[in-house]
Amino acid sequence: MRLVDTHVHLDFPEFDVDRDQVMVRAACEGVHSIVGVSVDLDSSRRLLGLAQQYPALRVTVGIHPAYVGKGKNDANLWNELEHLAQEPKVVALGETGLDFHRLPQDPVETEAIRMAQRTAFQAHLQLAAKLGLPLVIHQRDAWEETWELLEPYRGKVRAVFHCFGGTWEQAERILRAGWKLSFTGTVTFRKSQALRALAAQLPEESFMIETDAPFLAPEPWRGRRNEPAWVIHVARVLAQARQQSVETIAELTTQNAVCFFALEG
Ligand SMILES: [Zn+2]
Repeated sequence: MRLVDTHVHLDFPEFDVDRDQVMVRAACEGVHSIVGVSVDLDSSRRLLGLAQQYPALRVTVGIHPAYVGKGKNDANLWNELEHLAQEPKVVALGETGLDFHRLPQDPVETEAIRMAQRTAFQAHLQLAAKLGLPLVIHQRDAWEETWELLEPYRGKVRAVFHCFGGTWEQAERILRAGWKLSFTGTVTFRKSQALRALAAQLPEESFMIETDAPFLAPEPWRGRRNEPAWVIHVARVLAQARQQSVETIAELTTQNAVCFFALEG
């Protein structure tokens, strides 16, 4: 069985003590490719470094909306990202998008953050169109505004809505635009019946799987540090929900990931 974990923060310090074993356990579960997803410029550089070490690792470069304007993202940020994006291990830009989940009380501060996130998202969109790279979208409490910025790029960029947890209407809108969605461990949680029911209705070419490790460990490991080997639990739950074999889910989600990220088969 071959699996792809399409979203892992492999550079995070949670993996510093046992990153080699994490990669071995993933390989033993059949995870043949891992997409390491960046949250800022440092993270992009760290992941590119790790990709030299781990042949299974592919990389995205970009700035997570919650990291926009944080840390030392130099003035040269966009030139630097464009430069990094052309490294051979890079398969996408992101994660990018809008996250209005936790905004400060002060309305002026809030508006500044929203504006900065919008600007950064637009810069990723332009770069994706220019370089022909797909986008990994992070959207939280900002559905309509994310959509507004993304819509003009319909047919111009490929995009995946990572950690999908939305409604059927939202899923339909994504699929109609030709974009994809992907499921994390949240689909395994007990209270996620509606999400499993939604997953059961999706066309085979429309979805991928991911861990978002070190976050969002699936059942039966909820609350623990997550790792790519556990993407199998996401596949199992989808298999149950869709009444397909886990082998079929592995095959179709791998095929979708290979195609979306242009991974070597
Ligand atoms: Zn993430």
